[in-house]
Amino acid sequence: MTTPQTQLPAGHPALAAADPELAALVGAEERLQADTLRLIPSENYVSAAVLEASGTVLQNKYSEGYPGRRYYEGQQVIDQVETLAIERAKALFGVAHANVQPYSGSPANLAAYLAFAKPGDTVMGMALPMGGHLTHGWGVSATGSWFRGVQYGVRRDTGLIDYDQVRDLALAERPEVIFCGGTALPRTIDFAAFGEIAREAGAVLVADIAHIAGLVAGGAHPSPVGHVDVISTTTHKTLRGPRGAMLMSTEEHARALDKAVFPGLQGGPHNQTTAAIAVALREASLPSFRDYAHAVVANAKALADALLARGFDLVSGGTDNHLILMDLTPRGVPGKTAAKALDRAGIVVNHNTVPFDPRKPFDPSGVRIGTPSLTSRGLTPAHMDQVADWIDRAVTAAAAEDEDALATIRAEVADLMAAHPAPGLPA
Ligand SMILES: *Cc1c(COP(=O)(O)O)cnc(C)c1O
Repeated sequence: MTTPQTQLPAGHPALAAADPELAALVGAEERLQADTLRLIPSENYVSAAVLEASGTVLQNKYSEGYPGRRYYEGQQVIDQVETLAIERAKALFGVAHANVQPYSGSPANLAAYLAFAKPGDTVMGMALPMGGHLTHGWGVSATGSWFRGVQYGVRRDTGLIDYDQVRDLALAERPEVIFCGGTALPRTIDFAAFGEIAREAGAVLVADIAHIAGLVAGGAHPSPVGHVDVISTTTHKTLRGPRGAMLMSTEEHARALDKAVFPGLQGGPHNQTTAAIAVALREASLPSFRDYAHAVVANAKALADALLARGFDLVSGGTDNHLILMDLTPRGVPGKTAAKALDRAGIVVNHNTVPFDPRKPFDPSGVRIGTPSLTSRGLTPAHMDQVADWIDRAVTAAAAEDEDALATIRAEVADLMAAHPAPGLPA
């Protein structure tokens, strides 16, 4: 493992002068992100423009309320910033209404519940161990303790969502709100099928596209627009913006959502984040972003094929999107052991449950990987055989406790990464 560099970063002179200790940590993180192959599917590299926007004096302003309806004066500029972000979101996703204030994906989802359900009401989402998100009604989340969460999953034989099961559950339980989408779903979500089920059950349907928003914006995954009532998304995953979130909807639900975000759940919006969201949305409207979104999927498919060729067991047999879920049971290595070994080899992933996992969530059978970050660095399907080979060798090395093999891979990875500089990082 390389030692974190203690040298001060060149790009943050004021920080380096005022707080060398913190500046050194930032520099070390920059080096780590530059040198490693980042395969966590919820992560990315934002552009230098997004980074700059999120580090501006917009930070200094309080703006409770919405453009033209604020509780603080001095909003001559901030109103324009937020309006720009809202209009860009509406145009990019083709929606009637957008709220760009949620602090992150989890609060955005909480606002959707607040808008449409009362404590104790039934809400429905995908179970966390099946690939859903904590905020889709899972027990340890507020959404599963303040509401009565009922949960659907995937079929054991196919690893795919069982829409008949979803429908039966929705009609039996009559939830106020249904969430579709998730954090470990390698396959296309059938928003039209969910739409029909929700209408039949009389539920408000929320599509949580946190993971796939960039693919939807770039035309590489079908859009939920026209099938769902509300769209919730983070802005920092495939969409490649700052850490933040948005709620989008038809006119019908606009007021309820806005009221739920503010004053229901939050105070002042993070204006520097709003600005960076606006920048990211502009980037996502460019033809190059469509190319990126399709390249993310092409890379994931090529990587899945290369892993299958090496005998890896992939949940659902492959991928339609940016994400691959590997079940390492046949390799005899627990997910966490594999993830830690991969990390030592310079390949950053996270351990993850697989559907029907016999192991415990803190040490599950799977590893979740994805291609947004490597695509943002310009890697192509031609590189994916090499990536699969590293993963294969690292998992073998994990089983054999072969630290030398991991160090060798780490050096090879760093070589390839040096040839593909990451957006937003010092060269
Ligand atoms: C990431 C994610 C969230 C939560 O986002 P945070 O910003 O981490 O709170 C919610 N839903 C889904 C499906 C996600 O993937």
